[in-house]
Amino acid sequence: MAKRMLKFVTHPQILPEKRSAEERRQDFGEIYQGFALSRAEEQSSRCSQCGIPFCSVHCPLGNDIPDWLKLTAENRLQEAYEISSATNTFPEICGRICPQDRLCEGNCVIQKDFKSVTIGAVERFITENAFENGWVEPRTPLHELGLSVGIVGSGPAGLACAERLRSRGYEVHVYERQDRVGGLLTYGIPSFKLEKHVVARRHKILEEQGIIFHLSTAIGEGDISLNDLRTRHNAVFLATGVYRSRAIDVPGANLSGVVDAIDFLMASNRRGYNEDPKEDTALHAKDRRVIVIGGGDTAMDCVRTSIRQGAKEVVCVYRRDRENMPGSRQEVYNAEEEGAQFEWLAAPEEFVGDAQGVKAVRVQKMRLSAPDMSGRRSIEGTGETTLLEADLVIRALGFEPENIPEIWNQPDLAVTQWGTLSVPPGGFQTSAPGVFAGGDIVRGASLVVWAIKDGRDAADAIHKSLTKDHMLEAAE
Ligand SMILES: Cc1cc2nc3c(=O)[nH]c(=O)nc-3n(C[C@H](O)[C@H](O)[C@H](O)COP(=O)(O)OP(=O)(O)OC[C@H]3O[C@@H](n4cnc5c(N)ncnc54)[C@H](O)[C@@H]3O)c2cc1C
Ligand code: SF4
Repeated sequence: MAKRMLKFVTHPQILPEKRSAEERRQDFGEIYQGFALSRAEEQSSRCSQCGIPFCSVHCPLGNDIPDWLKLTAENRLQEAYEISSATNTFPEICGRICPQDRLCEGNCVIQKDFKSVTIGAVERFITENAFENGWVEPRTPLHELGLSVGIVGSGPAGLACAERLRSRGYEVHVYERQDRVGGLLTYGIPSFKLEKHVVARRHKILEEQGIIFHLSTAIGEGDISLNDLRTRHNAVFLATGVYRSRAIDVPGANLSGVVDAIDFLMASNRRGYNEDPKEDTALHAKDRRVIVIGGGDTAMDCVRTSIRQGAKEVVCVYRRDRENMPGSRQEVYNAEEEGAQFEWLAAPEEFVGDAQGVKAVRVQKMRLSAPDMSGRRSIEGTGETTLLEADLVIRALGFEPENIPEIWNQPDLAVTQWGTLSVPPGGFQTSAPGVFAGGDIVRGASLVVWAIKDGRDAADAIHKSLTKDHMLEAAE
C-alpha cells in the first residue's frame, strides 16, 4: 500500500471552492471551482483503499474509484485518467453533476467518523487535467466493420452508445431533433451545474472519432420514420428521453403564466447561446413573483434559474417537508443560500387569475401521517388554505414518456404500463427486431450516469447481436 493513502485521519475533507451566493446570483457560471493539483492529491490520499469498495459498488458504472484515487495521490495522473475513462465515457460530466451523496460518496466507509472522500471533484479534476494535457483523444477504430447503427437521440445514452460502437468500427449515425447535441445536458440542466462548453468539447471529440450527426432531424414524427432507419442501418438504438411534463389537475391550470419546467429551462439554456426564444417574455422570470411547484432537482433548477434571471421573489411549494423531499439536500441548501424561499407541506389547490394571467396560487397546508409498516409517511390535507401571490408559476412535477408507438405509428413497439419502452430486465432489445432502447425512455426520468451506463451496455448488446447475425449470414 502506498504511504500516501489512508490520510483521512490527518487530512480533513475539503470541498471544491464555491463562489459566493451574491456573486453567483448574477450569472449562470458553474458555482464550484475545480481542484488544484495539490488539493486533488491531498483529498485523494484520504481514501482508505477498502478491500470491498462500496463507492464502486454504488457507482452505476462500477468505476475503479480506489485505483484512480491512489494514482492521483501518487501524481500518476495519466494512468488515473486511463483507468477513470475506461469505465466512464464522460467522467468530467459525472464528476460535476452526479448526486454523489446518494451514490459513490454516500457509501464511502470513512464518512461514519470522518467525512467522505470527495470522489466527484477528483474525477472532474482527473479529466480536466487530461484535457489540458492533450490526453483525451478520439478513439478511432483500428478497422471498419462494414456495419452501421442508427441512434435516435444525442443525450448521454445516445452519445455513450455511439462512442462505444464507433470505437469498435461501426459506422454510427446519430439523429437529433434539436439543433445541438447533448439532450438534457445541453437544453435541460442549467449552466450553473454544467457549463455548455463542456458538452461542446465532447461533441467535437465524437465528431473527430467519425460519428456522423444529423441535427434538427426528428425521427418518427418528421420526414424519416423508424422503418426508414431500420432499412438504412443494421440496428437502431432509441435513446429519446422523457419530455412530457406531469400535469397538475387543479382549477386555473390553463391560465397564461403557468408554464412547464422543461419549457422554462430550455428557453433559459437557449438564451445562454445568445438566442432569443420566441416566448421570451412568457418564459422569463425577470421582475416577477415566481412560484415553483415540486420538490425534486428540476424544481431546484427552476428556482435557481429564476433567481439568476432577476425574479422579484422565488418561492418553492412542496407538499411534503424538507426531510421527505426527493431532491438533493445540497441543491436545496444552494438554493436557500441564493435567496429562495420554501413553503413546505403545501399543495396547490387552485391557480387564481384572469384573462391577463395567473395572479396567485391557493395552497392547502398538509400534514404527514404516522409512518406505515414500511416506514413511509403519507400526506393529508389540513383544510387550512393560504393565497400566495405569483406572476409566473412553474410546474416541476416530473416527466413522463411521450406515447412513442402512437405518435411514431409503430404499434409493434411494446411499452410498459408507465409508457416507457419495454425491454427484458437488464436487456436492451425492444419488441421490434433490430431495435434497441436505453436511457430515460426505458428507465423513466433518471440520472445521467445511468443513461451513460445504458448507452455503453446497449452498445455491447448491439455488437453481440450484430456480430452473431453477421457470422450466421456468412455461414449461410
Ligand atoms: C432539469 C433537469 C435537470 C437534471 N439534472 C440532473 C443532474 O444534475 N444530474 C443527473 O445525473 N441527472 C440530471 N437530470 C436527469 C438527466 O438529465 C437524464 O436522466 C438524462 O439526460 C437522460 O439521458 P437520455 O440520453 O436518456 O435522454 P435525454 O438527455 O433526454 O436525450 C434524449 C435526446 O433525444 C432527442 N429526441 C427525442 N425524440 C427524438 C426524435 N423523435 N428524433 C430525434 N431525436 C429525438 C431529444 O431531443 C434529446 O436530445 C436532470 C434532468 C432535468 C430535466
Ligand atoms: S460516475 Fe458518478 S457515482 Fe460514479 S464515481 Fe463518478 S461521480 Fe461517483
